[in-house]
Amino acid sequence: MSKPESTGGRLEGRIALITGASRGIGAAVARRFAQEGAHLVLTARTPGALEEIDDEIQKITGDPATLVPLDLTDFDAIDQLGAAIFKRFKKLDILVGNAGQLGTLSPLGHIQPEEWGRVMDVNVTANWRLIRSIDPLLKASDAGRAMFVSSAVGRTPRAYWGTYAVSKAALEMMAMIYAAEVEITNVRVNLINPGPTRTAMRATAFPGEDPDTVHTPESITGMFVELAEATCMRNGELLVAD
Ligand code: NDP
Repeated sequence: MSKPESTGGRLEGRIALITGASRGIGAAVARRFAQEGAHLVLTARTPGALEEIDDEIQKITGDPATLVPLDLTDFDAIDQLGAAIFKRFKKLDILVGNAGQLGTLSPLGHIQPEEWGRVMDVNVTANWRLIRSIDPLLKASDAGRAMFVSSAVGRTPRAYWGTYAVSKAALEMMAMIYAAEVEITNVRVNLINPGPTRTAMRATAFPGEDPDTVHTPESITGMFVELAEATCMRNGELLVAD
């Protein structure tokens, strides 16, 4: 399919990396960014799901996304991802650190060490490894924009949410530190709390909930677009969905 004429979208021509793009919030942000004219680099572990999102995106824009199936706990793969983006694009305009895992909701003393490690690896360490790998590429952009997806429990203790809540608190501190470090550069770094959103993770956390009582992933993509725009000067802020 030939590429359509420029749509004049808010992210026209920007190159965006989105983690956890195979479903839920990440997939909705990918579709929205495509509508806004961005070229997308999409990651998750499930190649088939990424291909389905890419089919949808190509129907919208005619521009195929760059698909990079990887497990974010494979930290060497994150380094290789940065190197591959540099080789192909020489820069990255937008980083959306969205991928996350809930873990098992249980008392702190009952959490299995392997699970604690896995949730911390995906929710915290992988985002640090992304920063480490991608920071030079964001700085090579005229307006590098990074955003990380947190949760209300990162600031408000909730019994039995231990691993997830601790990981999101750590993610928030890390993003704030990164924001402070890049203050004098062209890079801006912020956080998003999407609020209760109709996804697989939400259904696991609240199995008895009527999904129609929480908002859809599509309805919150505007916050991501705002933080991704070159004109957005916010830095070190947390945006919370209504
Ligand atoms: P989903 O479980 O629907 O999606 C999670 C995404 O992360 C999937 O694309 C999954 O892809 C990817 N992922 C998980 N583990 C890995 C891994 N090891 N390596 C690579 N990719 C991985 O969750 P949501 O869309 O709900 O969540 C998105 C973000 O929003 C998360 O950070 C979550 O904490 C946060 N959030 C969500 C809320 C909600 O109500 N839904 C509320 C507050 C915050 P795959 O399985 O293919 O690897």
